[in-house]
Amino acid sequence: MYKISEIVQVFHPNRTFITDPNSFVQHLFYDSRKIVQADNGIFFALQKNRDGHHYLKEAYAKGVRNFVLQVDEQQEIELSGANIVWVEDSLVAMQALVAFHRQKFDYPIIGITGSNGKTIVKEWLFQLMSPEYKIYRSPKSYNSQLGVALSLWGLSDEYNLAIIEAGISEKGEMTRLEQMIKPTIGVLTNIGVAHKTGFESKAEKIDEKLQLFTHVETIIFPYSYLENVQLPYRPRKFSWGLEEGLSLEVYSIKQINDRFTLITFYYAGRTFAVEVPFVDKGNVENAINCVAVMLRFGYEGAVIAARIKNLQPVAMRLELKKGKNNSSIIDDSYSNDLDALQIALEFLNQQGQNPFKMLILSDISGVSIDDVKSLAKLKRLLSEYHLDQLILIGEVLPKVASQFDVPSISYVDTTAFLADMRSVSFENATVLLKGGREFHFERISRQLVSKSHDTVLEINLNALENNLNVYRQLLPKHVKLMTMVKAFSYGSGSFEIANLLQFNRVDYLTVAFADEGVDLRGAGITLPIVVMSPDESSFESIVQYNLEPEIYSFRILFSFLNFLKGKEVISFPIHVKIDTGMHRLGFMPDEVDQLITFLNKASILKVKSAFSHLASAGNEKDNEFTQRQIDLLNECTRRLQDGIGYSFLRHIAATSGIELWPNAYFDMVRLGIGLYGVDIEGHDLPIREASILKTNVTQIKYLAASETVGYNRHGVLHRDSKIATIKIGYADGYDRRFGNGVGQMMVNGVLVPTIGDICMDMCMLDVTDVEVGEEDEVIVYPDIKSSAKAIGTIPYELLTSISQRVKRVYFYE
Ligand SMILES: *Cc1c(COP(=O)(O)O)cnc(C)c1O
Repeated sequence: MYKISEIVQVFHPNRTFITDPNSFVQHLFYDSRKIVQADNGIFFALQKNRDGHHYLKEAYAKGVRNFVLQVDEQQEIELSGANIVWVEDSLVAMQALVAFHRQKFDYPIIGITGSNGKTIVKEWLFQLMSPEYKIYRSPKSYNSQLGVALSLWGLSDEYNLAIIEAGISEKGEMTRLEQMIKPTIGVLTNIGVAHKTGFESKAEKIDEKLQLFTHVETIIFPYSYLENVQLPYRPRKFSWGLEEGLSLEVYSIKQINDRFTLITFYYAGRTFAVEVPFVDKGNVENAINCVAVMLRFGYEGAVIAARIKNLQPVAMRLELKKGKNNSSIIDDSYSNDLDALQIALEFLNQQGQNPFKMLILSDISGVSIDDVKSLAKLKRLLSEYHLDQLILIGEVLPKVASQFDVPSISYVDTTAFLADMRSVSFENATVLLKGGREFHFERISRQLVSKSHDTVLEINLNALENNLNVYRQLLPKHVKLMTMVKAFSYGSGSFEIANLLQFNRVDYLTVAFADEGVDLRGAGITLPIVVMSPDESSFESIVQYNLEPEIYSFRILFSFLNFLKGKEVISFPIHVKIDTGMHRLGFMPDEVDQLITFLNKASILKVKSAFSHLASAGNEKDNEFTQRQIDLLNECTRRLQDGIGYSFLRHIAATSGIELWPNAYFDMVRLGIGLYGVDIEGHDLPIREASILKTNVTQIKYLAASETVGYNRHGVLHRDSKIATIKIGYADGYDRRFGNGVGQMMVNGVLVPTIGDICMDMCMLDVTDVEVGEEDEVIVYPDIKSSAKAIGTIPYELLTSISQRVKRVYFYE
């Protein structure tokens, strides 16, 4: 903990407003959703995608009383009683503070960089060296400018070794990271071949990465990457590879079966061998890097071999799965230490749809009943994250259950819990499963997760947030943003997406039918919600749930007015749709005058917006037509406004309009497909597909030429072939037209065609030329635009056709 007065010295602030110089700072915040223990925190208003200055009130309301703002923000200050520091750049200030903090520790810090494998090597070193060292490690894959700062802030004298990842995307970044981390030992992981944007060449990229090692005493690296690279400084080099004369010579790498790889080494005059429980090249390389680090730390070959053999796969991220009884399940049973628990609790805390929060927790490795310090930390964590219910499983934690401020139930082991599971209600709860490997929490997960079908639609909430910001940046400040969550958010699921949009302050949500809006209200969404196709039977819900109907014809206008008669509503918000050429729903321009007459008599209604829809904004050949639509909306809304005597929002542009028609922004735009990561052909906006449909291989067959595959014997083999049956069929929304080679999927990085007809729940792929095993992952639409094209449709249809039985899995990276 530092006093604010001490911290201010580090920032070189432009201006300060300190009311309480003795205020202590222990937590760094930058995202108001993630604030816990606010009283000892400091909020940095970063100007990244979201502007942190817009969340000051939330942070203040949560109890934060220390703020770092950027000077160029000229907002009035409603942060009474708070300490405020104005700096040039909030992120730079945070980094300076972290560098100051890092200097307090003189235990070794391993800095890891590379293009791939950073997180795995970090997590594995943690697994491998934990018996001897108290290791602090970067959370998750926190390796960016912000991520590294947050990582380093966790250093404390509880530890005697730290492992920190560093990642970069452009030139100049590594120097900033190096200045914060000041690693004492450097590890270079896989460099990769992909030429990343942000760098002129691979050499430039390597050069930039090497900046991390400017002050290390030893650098550990695969020789092949730096063979021709001149290191501009002289750290001890610990190189490894197949060549002779390296610090660690790799004699041989041999796959022994489908799970293990045997590697023999020559080191310091001796040979030894390890069995790595992986067979893929990347993980073998990662494992050798770990061996090298352990040798550098003086471990014996025999100890290394014993531990490497038990390496566990690393869960790269947390997932939110749909549970039974409207619950959500976060399954995180890969490792269970206090740092990992904190990350998982933070993730739990961030999920908004089910306010009832439950944790199922096993004993934590290394924490015994007399480990007072760790138990105190656990107690603090449990109360910070406001859990509603705790289930403790094991020999240790149940004995101290009464110390925790959360209602708890205890069981001696997982079997005992499973036997009693029916007595526990998971309804409407978000449940975090956090258990050590030996507790086999996957057995609990199987019981709680709702559908057993293995095809999943993974929705990357970070990608979604990114896309939202990309489109936002195209818009002038005054233009409002309506986002489309119709059709189950283009197949991606409702609350989770709406929740994220609400946090990101979009102005409106739009659904197709009132029921969708009712569900969102039930899930705690308070944003205005427009219903695009209301009908008489939905008016009751519209009024009761405060939804806003689109009024597109006299019939719907009259029946709504009729419905409102005698009800105690005033100025009920409506949205008037005008048909400027799409010829779907809407008042024709020549009906506007009559509409004005009726609206003037209907003071019970209030026009919130008037809008239209572009029929062909993405087609250049129709540019004239599009312009005419824009002009027509302009003209009609002017008449409407004059006629009813007050103003309202006007809007016409959807995704393609946002990209191509800046003159069509009016007062608001309606973002749909772009949010989910699909933009106009040929446009290179930095958006990412937010949902990825994945399935896996059920069975592999080796078949002779001339055999046939599937119904009607349509899949004729022209050569001896390897065929994979996978778990997706037309009942999941995989169109039958993808059969017989029309569809292509991605298996282990290779595109492969379907073979034979698509079945209801399965289909077959020709994987003759690919290394693939049963249960391997398959990406169904490696490129959704070309998949759509292959069957003559559009990405919209593919996304919204993914059936409800396909599990939606949400994650933040
Ligand atoms: C679906 C829809 C949108 C969004 O369109 P995208 O092309 O997905 O951005 C906008 N406005 C209306 C009226 C819609 O029906």
